[in-house]
Amino acid sequence: MATHTLSVPISLENEKNPWVAAAARFDEAAMRLKLDDGMRKVLRSAAKELTVHIPVLLDDGRIEVFTGYRVQHSLARGPAKGGIRFAPDVTLDEVRALASWMTWKCAVVNIPFGGGKGGVICDPNVLSDAELEKLTRRYTAEIIDFIGPERDVPAPDVNTNEKVMAWIMDTYSMHARHTVTAVVTGKPMALGGSRGRPEATGRGCMIVILKALELLGLKPQDSRVVIQGFGNVGGMAAKLMSAIGFKIVCMIEYDGAVYNPNGLDIAALQKHRKQTGSITGFADGEDMDKDEAMFLECEVLIPAATENVIHSGNAERIRCKILCEGANGPTTPLADEVLADKKIFVIPDILANAGGVTVSYFEWVQDRQGFFWNEQLVNQRLEEIMTESFDAVVEYARAHHVNNRIAAYMLALDRVAQAIKLRGIYA
Ligand code: GLU
Repeated sequence: MATHTLSVPISLENEKNPWVAAAARFDEAAMRLKLDDGMRKVLRSAAKELTVHIPVLLDDGRIEVFTGYRVQHSLARGPAKGGIRFAPDVTLDEVRALASWMTWKCAVVNIPFGGGKGGVICDPNVLSDAELEKLTRRYTAEIIDFIGPERDVPAPDVNTNEKVMAWIMDTYSMHARHTVTAVVTGKPMALGGSRGRPEATGRGCMIVILKALELLGLKPQDSRVVIQGFGNVGGMAAKLMSAIGFKIVCMIEYDGAVYNPNGLDIAALQKHRKQTGSITGFADGEDMDKDEAMFLECEVLIPAATENVIHSGNAERIRCKILCEGANGPTTPLADEVLADKKIFVIPDILANAGGVTVSYFEWVQDRQGFFWNEQLVNQRLEEIMTESFDAVVEYARAHHVNNRIAAYMLALDRVAQAIKLRGIYA
């Protein structure tokens, strides 16, 4: 059980509520930083929250109404920044937590943004392309006064992609009566997207994993990697990491897992999934129980799917040396304590997956300048930022005798608190 004093005590019942999880880390970091009560109140709550109800005319002629949110947690260091997810289980609490994580993430990597997040409660798998487009455009129209290059800049997240970003950009631009590329990031290249953005989150994970290996005296060639999630983050990390010698021994998806102790051929697995619709039944690997695969012994485990997959009920069974959180919030606060006892080197989400928003920042800069960089420059600048941020977090943890997650939060909270202090409280 958690020993620190929390404004929201964590129990087995609420440990999977993302807002409780975010609050627990926030409280501990704020306490250690000795932030005063007023500042805690400012940083803890979201600055603005918008709920919209979105009517959509479905293909069969019926009208359905979907509920969506856009939350701006902080605007202290710049415009809000963060993705939009389309999923049946989206809740306001989850969007709030994710928005606050974006604030801390942008502050950890020191890019000039606050944090925001959006979500629409829907199942994109049962919507046609035309319905999805209508939903996206109407959601955009409903939040149009809330977003903008100087206000709040959305991006892809769970179940949204560059096509959805193109619709948002177009809808916003139609209302503005001119093309506004910098209103969203993660766009197609032809519409002001950045080179290197699709790979950025996976590449960022690889960069910080290489740094962690170095600290632990390990080599990529001797490192077995287990990845949960074969989407944009997990799939890219798998591809990039196997190309430099890591052995990706297991890939886990929602419908099964595939294992090969000698390392999976990621390109072939990608092809297999494209042909069959699933990673299971892959000729060059064995199918495995997806609920057991996360407990394989390995050097690196990358949960790159959803929240709360490592919790008080299973943390004891995790057998990796390095845990790199590709997803947002994959570990609950109760699990943190177990992982610490097991001496697992955790690269927390707000650092590990910050490569995505870092290249989103580059995209926003390029759009505003109308001057585009080559891929080498994007990757080089990403590497500089991820490396510096990793070093800063690890050094902070060492100097303050805290774990990497709390160090990342402390670093971030301190930066945002400083910005608020310097700006003062407007009355
Ligand atoms: N959705 C991604 C994240 O959680 C990217 C956000 C962005 O690029 O603004 O970090």
